[in-house]
Amino acid sequence: MLMNLPMNTGLAQSPEVNLLEKGVSLELAKNRAANIEKITYDLYFNIPENKAQPVEGRLQLQFDYRSKATPLILDFNNDFEKIHTVAVSGKAVYWRYENGHIIIPDTALRLKKNVVQISFEAGNQALNRNDEYLYTLFVPDRASTAFPCFDQPDLKAKYKLHLKIPETWVAVANGRMLEKRFWDGKHYYVFNETKPISTYLFGFVAGKFSTINTYRDGRSMTMYHRETDTAKVAANKKAIFDLHASALTWLEEYTDIPLPFEKFDFVLVPSFQFGGMEHVGAILYKSSSLMLDPLATQNQKLGRASLIAHETAHMWFGDLVTMKWFNDVWLKEVFANFMAAKIVNPNFPDINHQLRFLLAHHPAAYSEDRSGGAHPIQQKLENLKDAGTLYGRIIYQKAPVVMNQLEKIVGKQAFREGLQEYLKEFAYANATWDDLIAILETKSATNLSEWSEAWVKEAGMPNYRVYNTIENGKISALNIKQQVTTASGKFWQQKVLLTLVNDGKVQTIPIMLDGRVTSVKEAIGLKRQDFILINSDGTGYGYFGLDKDSRQYLIKNVHKVQDPVLRGSAWIAIYEEVLRRKIPFDVFMKMLMKAIPEENEPLNSQNLLGYLEEIYWRYYSAKDRLAIADKLEKLLWKIMDAAPGQSAKAAYFKTYLKIAQTEEAITRLKLIWDGDLLMNDMVLSENDYTQIACEIALRNSNLAEDILKKQLERIKNPDRRARLRFVMPALSSKQAERDQFFEMLKDEANRTHEPWVLQALAYLHHPLRAKESEKYLEESLALLEEIQQSGDIFFPKRWLVSVFNGHRSKSAVLIIKQFLEERPGYPYRLKNKILQAADPLFRAAGEELD
Ligand SMILES: [Zn+2]
Repeated sequence: MLMNLPMNTGLAQSPEVNLLEKGVSLELAKNRAANIEKITYDLYFNIPENKAQPVEGRLQLQFDYRSKATPLILDFNNDFEKIHTVAVSGKAVYWRYENGHIIIPDTALRLKKNVVQISFEAGNQALNRNDEYLYTLFVPDRASTAFPCFDQPDLKAKYKLHLKIPETWVAVANGRMLEKRFWDGKHYYVFNETKPISTYLFGFVAGKFSTINTYRDGRSMTMYHRETDTAKVAANKKAIFDLHASALTWLEEYTDIPLPFEKFDFVLVPSFQFGGMEHVGAILYKSSSLMLDPLATQNQKLGRASLIAHETAHMWFGDLVTMKWFNDVWLKEVFANFMAAKIVNPNFPDINHQLRFLLAHHPAAYSEDRSGGAHPIQQKLENLKDAGTLYGRIIYQKAPVVMNQLEKIVGKQAFREGLQEYLKEFAYANATWDDLIAILETKSATNLSEWSEAWVKEAGMPNYRVYNTIENGKISALNIKQQVTTASGKFWQQKVLLTLVNDGKVQTIPIMLDGRVTSVKEAIGLKRQDFILINSDGTGYGYFGLDKDSRQYLIKNVHKVQDPVLRGSAWIAIYEEVLRRKIPFDVFMKMLMKAIPEENEPLNSQNLLGYLEEIYWRYYSAKDRLAIADKLEKLLWKIMDAAPGQSAKAAYFKTYLKIAQTEEAITRLKLIWDGDLLMNDMVLSENDYTQIACEIALRNSNLAEDILKKQLERIKNPDRRARLRFVMPALSSKQAERDQFFEMLKDEANRTHEPWVLQALAYLHHPLRAKESEKYLEESLALLEEIQQSGDIFFPKRWLVSVFNGHRSKSAVLIIKQFLEERPGYPYRLKNKILQAADPLFRAAGEELD
């Protein structure tokens, strides 16, 4: 899109264009993409040790102007005073600053090659400055808070980087280090020029880090970390490197493209906001996600492998080929998850991967898709400043299920060929979802555009019900009815597996659900079944309602279902029925208590323990909860005692710790914390002791202050000590201290360590404190818009989840509903987040939702 604008006079006078609105409007992005190309950023940052001192920077920006139709608009989302000088080809020019943009008139520029020099002070917002280190995190549009740039994903550029850092620090960036020299009492690093990458993938880390270097398959890899527990590092490093190496090998083979960037390092950051971030050549991880405790469950080990595979897959899907605009951000996430699921399998031959996929995706995706805040996978995005609000479980968990369906429809081999074509065609450039569908459509007989409309461009989940007619003890008709359509009246199309079980005999029938009613002719004449379940293999998606007979049978017998995937899928279907009040929660609790001791598949166990915790805290009143506490505690303790090995025990112990309420249980936990009660083959880590101390503090006001103080003294690692110190007031038994803590959170400066804030909020709003913390709800909601602007992308939803964590009352529902009613113009995507996070609370309080 090209626009004719008045010369020199600036753009503000031209009312029809929104080029200069705050952030990066879609219009500005399109305008720049049409006019600017061949971009190189040559950047220098001088990083002082003291985080209170500013980071000074210099930029030499080169680019080609295809057409001088508009003035040059650079993004610098900061203060005007932080721009020191602006020059073109070494000569100072007239420029102005408006709404976070530096505007240089086109008369100062020429067609083709231009060089702009700017010296500036970098904003701290995305530099994550700590006492001993800093790391950049520019996704989705935060690069422009640190330096002037074209902050949009489809203006890929080459980066040259120079860093001056304290002598005792090290630095790592996207490019290989070319040179490191001692200069002026500091270290001066020069990094190699990168391939073309998007602004959100540019990044660097500097600070006091330990490094471990290794070679795998002829490739050098360096891990940077701050873990002080040498035993922990020793126990984890081999696995961490191995997982990266096998992910790389797998991806090179699948894509038929060698790693598209020159090097591959990664940095383990304490309290990193996300699990990981796929910066080219220097992936950042949350340290605790990779450095696992000895008590790590099988699930955590899988989680680590998946995270590593996910970030590694991004080097191709996201970094090499990038979305044109952030409305398609889901595409890189779904590919990373989709590939991760494929990659992780060979590394865990003992794991049931089909079950793992089912449990890792469907429950989480349904949690948002069944709520009033459901939205399409692909959302509209008018301005990049709102890109953070696009992220969530619909992207991360629903989209991979949908992608699996796509692979099923197109066929595995054709799908892979399509992806290879897509990666080659758009390498070091950008593409949209429709570009991919266009490629795949050439390889498939199905109308993929139509399929994509319902699954990707419209909101919500399908809702099915089974109608099973029995005559003379035999099935005379079996129909599956799709109860709702998309907003535009379409039925979702999907291939699913229907399973009929009778006397332990399992029969499966593949069916295509594509209209209002699907009749299963193959079932006619079969004798009456014990139960019938749609989606027994977990490749389908939706609310698969049970018929009455099946429901009754499963309530009594679900734990006896032999196949672990079928059993896992049945539990998911049952839980959906509980949430819709088709099965009473106390009946469900009894089912769990019967099933948990019998469940021998760790993935299913973990899922059931999660249900138990949720139902216990969310559905039982305080009184009724106390009445079942003793029974539950004893049950869990017994299973834990009998469970073989550390990792199996850990899952039960963690649930025991979370639900413990009786005096006996609290005394037992205290003995464990004191070291007076040893648990068979279980070694507790510093983190476990901290967690025990926190849970005890919540339950016993006499012990609280002392145990937290002692735990603080016990912690050797400075990062973990700082975290507990921060969280402690939220655990205080004194209301005044908790009030003060909440007040403090209103100041943005106190919310910089987001994982700390979330942990503290969950304690502040613990079910045991719900009554006293209800008064924080409204103000916590009122802070949301500010939090979205100042915090990282997952923070708003997580903030809400932690705030709603312990609540189950009608009055809490009322506060949330009133908040939204009083604000009819409230930002649409933030409203969705509130409705998603509040859904469990609404349902527990008995709200009619669907
Ligand atoms: Zn990702």
